[in-house]
Amino acid sequence: MNSVVTVTNETFNTHVPVLIVGAGAAGLCAALAAKEVGVDAVVVERDAVPSGSTALSAGLIPAAGTRFQRTKGIADSPAVFAADIQRKAKGEADPAVVEAVAQGAGPLVEWLAERHGLPFEVVDNFNYPGHSAMRMHGLPSRTGQELIDRLRNAAEANDIVILTGSIVERLLADRDGRIHGVEVTHRDGAHERIGCDALILACNGFGGNPELVRRFIPEMADALYFGHPGNRGDAVIWGDALGAQLSHLGAYQGHGSVATPHNILISWAVIMQGGIQINREGRRFCDETLGYSEQAAEVLRQPGGFAWSVFDARIATVARQFEDFRNAERVGAILTAETIADLAKAMQVPAAAFAAEWNDVEKLKSAAGGDRYGREFSAEQSCRSPYHAVKVTGALFHTQGGLAVDVNGRVKRNDATTFPNLFAAGGAAAGVSDSTAAGYLSGNGLLTAAVLGQLAGKAAAKQVVTFGPRQKNNGREG
Ligand SMILES: Cc1cc2nc3c(=O)[nH]c(=O)nc-3n(C[C@H](O)[C@H](O)[C@H](O)COP(=O)(O)OP(=O)(O)OC[C@H]3O[C@@H](n4cnc5c(N)ncnc54)[C@H](O)[C@@H]3O)c2cc1C
Repeated sequence: MNSVVTVTNETFNTHVPVLIVGAGAAGLCAALAAKEVGVDAVVVERDAVPSGSTALSAGLIPAAGTRFQRTKGIADSPAVFAADIQRKAKGEADPAVVEAVAQGAGPLVEWLAERHGLPFEVVDNFNYPGHSAMRMHGLPSRTGQELIDRLRNAAEANDIVILTGSIVERLLADRDGRIHGVEVTHRDGAHERIGCDALILACNGFGGNPELVRRFIPEMADALYFGHPGNRGDAVIWGDALGAQLSHLGAYQGHGSVATPHNILISWAVIMQGGIQINREGRRFCDETLGYSEQAAEVLRQPGGFAWSVFDARIATVARQFEDFRNAERVGAILTAETIADLAKAMQVPAAAFAAEWNDVEKLKSAAGGDRYGREFSAEQSCRSPYHAVKVTGALFHTQGGLAVDVNGRVKRNDATTFPNLFAAGGAAAGVSDSTAAGYLSGNGLLTAAVLGQLAGKAAAKQVVTFGPRQKNNGREG
């Protein structure tokens, strides 16, 4: 069955100004922004309760120049943030979109805090790879579950309708690419065609579609997918059928630190605070601080497809701010020993090889210069007993490629003009990484979800207000 149905003058029983597919961070920020302009947005969500990958995340949104940073004396600016994004993306991310999200992130976090009551704070006791300032903003539990619950509460408080248990199956568009509406299957099996003046795709990427992952990201085809299973690539499939520009489809957020077999995210704080990863032969295998995303494939390339993250009690205290880490401790995923020799025994790795690696790293912590992979340890504190280790594997978190958009989330055609009334944000849109896992700067996921979501919601609503329902502007703004 076609993913996009061509219509001419379709009439609908139900018509809404702004329709949003997906109630993750992108969809809910878009809905809140549209509502603020005075335009009703209806969100269609396949799950009974909105969760998405947003709920699975740590809920950390990077933002520069915020009042939360200023209170803690952290100097930062959108320009520095944009430069960090492009450095990680090797300059391959769309500069206009990078600029828009770097500029918009601070106001977004403050808007969510002040207008919608989300109690953000800046994480100031460790930094993520590639960020030249502490700029991750999180909620008290450091969970995406808290983020999505608070966004949903904000949506409800603003009378935003979320049609849950409803899957958007197809788009209804005319030959100019104007979206007239969508076809929805509700949880009781009933089908409905809902008309709209503007459509925002906020249904994330294709991580939950094994066939598309195999086609575009073969290195992760057999990896654990740790994102939301309902993200089946609908935006990419619909966009492709409409002639939208698809960008960086090989890009993704991986993570090289998912506790196995427990499947619990172990914060990269354990590495950034001075921990290391070793393989089952007791050997280190790379500079772990380049980024957790590219580390997913590195870990999977090790014998057995796993590694051990090793750290000490002080580092565990930092990691404990994350509920996931506390859960990992609760289920016994974190091993503890008084000596490295005893830890090696518990891990069942060759003690001599592991001890040699460990001692080398400890020596480097009091010396200048890098290790054999170029990692600098001189700024790290020495590790002290008791020691900890957790067995981890690499996983695919979400895909970063998607529909190319402009700074307002308007979806671009192949000829770079924009569709008249089609928007995308979050994982549905192309991210601000390059075309690999290595281009992903920590936080790029929620950055483009929340900020582009807000920008798209505002732009879609303003378009409806300006042109009125079913406006005929052909949208070829270039
Ligand atoms: C374990 C983990 C940790 C992460 N940690 C972080 C972090 O700390 N910081 C960060 O920036 N990023 C993080 N990420 C990435 C981040 O979670 C995502 O980039 C972000 O949540 C994407 O938001 P979204 O709104 O685009 O998608 P989602 O939150 O996945 O929402 C998409 C929604 O669309 C719905 N949907 C899909 N198709 C349809 C359809 N056809 N009809 C109706 N509904 C549909 C889905 O059910 C889903 O609810 C993490 C990801 C994972 C998996």
